Amino acid sequence: MSEIGSHFKQIKQSVPEHVKMVVVSKFQPISAIEEIYGLGHRLFGESKVQELLSKYETLEKDIEWHFIGHLQTNKVKYIIPFISLIQGVDSLKLLLEINKFAQKNNKIVDCLLQVHIAQEETKFGFSFDELNNLYQSGEINNLKHVRICGLMGMASNTDDTQQVREEFHSLAQFFNQFKETVGNSFQILSMGMSGDYKTAIEEGSNMVRIGSSIFGERNYN
Ligand SMILES: *Cc1c(COP(=O)(O)O)cnc(C)c1O
Repeated sequence: MSEIGSHFKQIKQSVPEHVKMVVVSKFQPISAIEEIYGLGHRLFGESKVQELLSKYETLEKDIEWHFIGHLQTNKVKYIIPFISLIQGVDSLKLLLEINKFAQKNNKIVDCLLQVHIAQEETKFGFSFDELNNLYQSGEINNLKHVRICGLMGMASNTDDTQQVREEFHSLAQFFNQFKETVGNSFQILSMGMSGDYKTAIEEGSNMVRIGSSIFGERNYN
């Protein structure tokens, strides 16, 4: 088996049954995705609309695609017809746009709200306060064509495992409380990437997004 295949299998084995594994295939060629597909995996994540569209066109249609990047409102319409989960919803404006095109396509689109838990300023996402306000204002309740399925967060990019653990811990805590506000659809806590997924799972993640430890280091982020 190839290196990619054996990395995939190793990681898959270390992820418990109740945790979904999204293979992050951004910047990877079609052939690399086909290899993982050939091992039976069907859940992939991409972070650029153009790249996702061309991969969607080329690859088998039973692949479940998650959008994991920062989604620009003017590109929402292209992915609505086939996307199975939009993981990085980071503004009400984006949510309104997703709702609008979901309605046009006569469907309900599953979304995760992205929460800013890292110390870096550059990472997108709501604060805990903003999420509370979003629900208290009632604005989100009128959106009949989006289903809020949970939260997504990225920890700081640091070797300080304790800090990473605390960030995941605070998100998991918030998730458990917030469940009561949102209701039954709220089930997914997406946290953990190649460098920190084990810590994330220990802190309560039930969805991890893994790229570089399967495919090797990317030249871009
Ligand atoms: C790129 C990316 C990942 C995967 O990161 P790796 O460190 O390569 O595993 C996960 N989540 C998001 C949001 C990403 O952009």
